[in-house]
Amino acid sequence: TAAAPHLVVVGAGHAAAQLCASLHATDWPGRVTVVGDEPGLPYHRPPLSKGRLDAGEPGAAEAAGADLIRPEAFYDDHNIARRESVAVVAIDRAAKELTLRGGGEDERLGYDLLVLATGSLHRRPPIPGIDHERVHTLRTAAEAAAVRDRLGQASSVVVIGAGFIGLEVAASLRKRGLGVTVLEMADRVLARVTSEEVSAFFADLHRGHGVDLRLGAGATAIDDRLGGLRVRLGDGDAIDADFVVVGAGAAANDALARDAGLEIGERPFGGVVVDAHQRTADPAVFAIGDCCNQLSHLYGRRMRLESVQNANDQAKTAAAAIAGTPRPHVSMPWFWSDQYDVKLQIAGLSTGHDRCVLRGEPAVGQSFSAWYLQGGKLLAVDAVNDPRAYAVAGKLIPHGLTPDPALIADTSAGPKDLIASAKGASS
Ligand code: FAD
Repeated sequence: TAAAPHLVVVGAGHAAAQLCASLHATDWPGRVTVVGDEPGLPYHRPPLSKGRLDAGEPGAAEAAGADLIRPEAFYDDHNIARRESVAVVAIDRAAKELTLRGGGEDERLGYDLLVLATGSLHRRPPIPGIDHERVHTLRTAAEAAAVRDRLGQASSVVVIGAGFIGLEVAASLRKRGLGVTVLEMADRVLARVTSEEVSAFFADLHRGHGVDLRLGAGATAIDDRLGGLRVRLGDGDAIDADFVVVGAGAAANDALARDAGLEIGERPFGGVVVDAHQRTADPAVFAIGDCCNQLSHLYGRRMRLESVQNANDQAKTAAAAIAGTPRPHVSMPWFWSDQYDVKLQIAGLSTGHDRCVLRGEPAVGQSFSAWYLQGGKLLAVDAVNDPRAYAVAGKLIPHGLTPDPALIADTSAGPKDLIASAKGASS
């Protein structure tokens, strides 16, 4: 009816689930439909490369619904309509109609407001043989289940790419007793997201757990062999494995928006361009989560983030704008990764730093943190098994506060000293 606007969310992941919850908490009078191309309800993605892979009982957590972001009753109780295993394949912005495809005949679905929450897509490096059925990627629960199904018979795996997902998969599969080789084209692991110091720590960590980590190593071809694969390297070497997992990064899933004539961000980020309220240039269309490109108030440049925190915070921002109580998006990015018994927590973004100050010794078995500065200003902190450093960073970075670097490096100075030093420097 005209009184109750119809909002359609495209994509049923982290951002969509949070949007439903945040909208429900307002007195916005509309009704919501979530259209997702995966089967089932929105679920937590981070465990797919972590506990879900090294858990003893494949599928058990899933069957128990343990990883659902919200239980089914949440959607039912709040009258949130769901279309599962249905993809939106086109947006007609003039008619405010979507084309839905789910196996049968295409359907049309009208909207008053549209929220794009389509996430990101794997990058698939153009390696001959990459489409072999024993080559896996890891973004969805179904893809994680396919990897788990290999584990019963497999004794070895090659992981292509030493980013977060590649390294988490390597750790999970080592815990399951597989022989693991990791191939990384760059000369260090996590090269795009952290400093040389932290990269060196994670390389040592994996080698210490028996991973054959090869840096500066690109796969040039993946050949079929009886019961397995042979991965060929640029230097002429070849590695045999039962299967391969590719973790070569992700790109914005923005083709639907691009085809509908919405503005897409510049490379390398791409993503649907939104303002501080998640609005596109079309007043009826918003975008949230991995798929969107937004100006960071903290770093003064446009970016596209891939994190649960970002998806949740942008969903809250969009809900506030939709409900007529707009509050611009101003949060500090944060992220985490679990590998073996190491928890890495990242506050802020270290891109562009010109100085890295270590607090503690970056050695396996120790806790430490790496503090990144640019022009004397604190940008970000990587905390390794050091939740206190992470907590302090969260109190400083959003306010543009920087402690004295000499105090940062001095582990006898506690969190209170660091905060007092930073406040003193700013006043
Ligand atoms: P998603 O959760 O990806 O949801 C998008 C959904 O939209 C998907 O289900 C997709 O299939 C669907 N979709 C896309 N196009 C259409 C269409 N046209 N029609 C219908 N449906 C469509 N982040 C962290 O902060 N910490 C971590 O430790 C961490 N670990 C991760 C581990 C793995 C294995 C992966 C894959 C990601 C991890 N992330 C982590 C990233 C985090 O999961 C994402 O940033 C987050 O899921 C983004 O939420 P989203 O809603 O934007 O996208």
